[in-house]
Amino acid sequence: MSSLRDYGLGDSTENVTSKPRLVSGQLDEACPNCGGIALFGIHVDVEHPNLKGSKGTGFYVGCAACPYASPMLMTAGTVKPKEEDAK
Ligand SMILES: [Zn+2]
Repeated sequence: MSSLRDYGLGDSTENVTSKPRLVSGQLDEACPNCGGIALFGIHVDVEHPNLKGSKGTGFYVGCAACPYASPMLMTAGTVKPKEEDAK
């Protein structure tokens, strides 16, 4: 795994049970690694024993132009994208 994704939190990909899916348009914010305006919000389904019901949704910000990804926030339950974002 790229060191760009090593925050000392361990490898969370073992908790991910789905392919990543975009839940935002292009964010109006520069990538902290490459400086490009190419960041997107991403959801994945996750399983983790610390989550109520053991299942939840992970959110992180990833860059389309370089390997940068933020630390992932995991919340219990299924987070549905807003209807206008799902189109
Ligand atoms: Zn980048």
